[in-house]
Amino acid sequence: MHILITGGAGFIGSNLVAYHMECGDKVHVVDDLSTGRIENIASFINHPDFTFEQADLLLWDALDNVVNWADRIYHMAAVVGLFRVLQEPVSVLRTNIMGTQKLLSALHKSHWKPKLIIASTSEVYGNHHENIALHEEIELLVTPGHNSRWNYAISKLADEAFALSYVHEYGADITIVRFFNVIGLNQSGKYGMVVPRFIAQATANEPITIYGDGSQVRSFMDVRDCIGMLQILAKNKQTKGEIVNVGTDHERNITDLATMIKARAQSSSEIVYVSYNDAYGAGFEDYFHRKPDLTKLQRLTNYHPQWSLEDTVDFLIKNRQLKDA
Ligand code: UDP
Repeated sequence: MHILITGGAGFIGSNLVAYHMECGDKVHVVDDLSTGRIENIASFINHPDFTFEQADLLLWDALDNVVNWADRIYHMAAVVGLFRVLQEPVSVLRTNIMGTQKLLSALHKSHWKPKLIIASTSEVYGNHHENIALHEEIELLVTPGHNSRWNYAISKLADEAFALSYVHEYGADITIVRFFNVIGLNQSGKYGMVVPRFIAQATANEPITIYGDGSQVRSFMDVRDCIGMLQILAKNKQTKGEIVNVGTDHERNITDLATMIKARAQSSSEIVYVSYNDAYGAGFEDYFHRKPDLTKLQRLTNYHPQWSLEDTVDFLIKNRQLKDA
């Protein structure tokens, strides 16, 4: 198969690269390396079945040709990570919305030859204060204007609306996946993600920084399970025009996460609490719960996650220790 991965040097993108290279597919990556890292794909750079182009999707002149070449496209290119989202509110909207629009119009010109998987996010659900499992049809409680955090959700909602409109008007074969806290190899803590930050802090015996009071809850999923799910979704004809939650529903609060990572890394780190104001600036609103309803994912994939949070944490600690050695 011919695979185009936008944002293929990023976290999920580079794991998709490794998966498809392993399958013997031909893989083309476009990435501007703004959050993606060349190290994530370094082992494939000289492989004859692999092509990497460093380019901004909005300026990339090979887009039409590569879209025509592809059998499947994963659109992972986006401005991500809470610190980056807060620091670059304009580029979140510009890159995330206009990049998707450009890709969709290239697909339109190609007469919708490839299957397209678009990465969306659980952020689009907004702040549901009760602890309910978020299903794909539930109201979205996004509050624009308060804080540029919402720009990320708004940009991804615009992408979803664009994509679904192309499905309805032109019969495009697109599936939208809303990711819930995916973790694993190649994820950087630089822009905010909690698990790589805690692992880096614990393995360096530095303070583990919990933002807020640590009672906020998340459900984490190993990127290898995420990719297993994406493969089934991409092949299943019933996913055309669908929005699907991709995650697990094993909840963990952030204090438990910090304690567990510290213990498994045999770390002497102190666990410290940092106010949201100090971490993210004034007016920041965190989500206290974020759990997916997985009924639709189960119906469409029947996939059962293979890695527990502890398995993934052990694997990441070992990897980090090997790198630091
Ligand atoms: N968090 C934390 N310490 C950190 C980074 C994040 O306590 O060093 C918290 C963050 O405030 C949030 C949770 O961990 O409540 C998950 O954060 P992440 O950015 O990984 O995911 P999201 O908030 O998008 O679910």
